[in-house]
Amino acid sequence: MSKAQDGVDIAANVARIRERMARAAERSGRSPDDLTLVAVAKLVAAEKVREAIAAGVRDIGENYVQEAAAKRAQMGAAVRWHMIGHLQRNKARQAAEIFDIIQTVDSERLAQAIGRQAEALGRVSPVLIQVNTSGEPTKSGVRPEDAEELLIAVREAPGVAVEGLMTIGRWDPDTERARPEFRLLAELARKLEDRTGVRLRWLSMGMSHDFEVAIAEGANLVRVGTGVFGPRPA
Ligand SMILES: *Cc1c(COP(=O)(O)O)cnc(C)c1O
Repeated sequence: MSKAQDGVDIAANVARIRERMARAAERSGRSPDDLTLVAVAKLVAAEKVREAIAAGVRDIGENYVQEAAAKRAQMGAAVRWHMIGHLQRNKARQAAEIFDIIQTVDSERLAQAIGRQAEALGRVSPVLIQVNTSGEPTKSGVRPEDAEELLIAVREAPGVAVEGLMTIGRWDPDTERARPEFRLLAELARKLEDRTGVRLRWLSMGMSHDFEVAIAEGANLVRVGTGVFGPRPA
């Protein structure tokens, strides 16, 4: 099968993104090995996801439960599937089955629904708490000032383990505009660790256009879609 039939060379894109991630890590005195690239595959065909996996990607992000279920069933390789889209409670059961990590928990009831299913499967679902750091009403996520209460509640829920925080920076051609939001998430994680004793090892922040700023502020899980797969179909 010829690569780049549509002008997108996924292996080259992965190499380029990894190179930029490594440089951003080094600029802030961190090791590139501490960073994980999540290739965001919403609306991307399974065949292209396979190309990314062949190029060494081990973490795939999806926004929709059905789409992820279909693709995961076609994928032989051992990769981790991340739920990064808004999750409705009526999809929590299926999400708990399909995803290795759910990054978008923003309510206690959602965490409980995920946990019930995980327990039924004899598992514990790793989850991140999504925080709305920009205050934009269109974004999901708990308000920063409500994150501690939610973290404490989710910690008590059986079947889930909180492993970090996630945010989406505001979209702006000037990526510096999102820096205060990334900084807020990193500071919030440190504060919550101190206050609750819960270890928050993952800071999921940064997308194709702003991951370098996010890494400078402490991101260790970056979610890159178009930067890996090219423009998404409309
Ligand atoms: C689509 C999406 C991404 C990837 O966006 P790109 O701009 O294509 O890199 C990252 N995070 C979330 C939550 C998304 O929905």
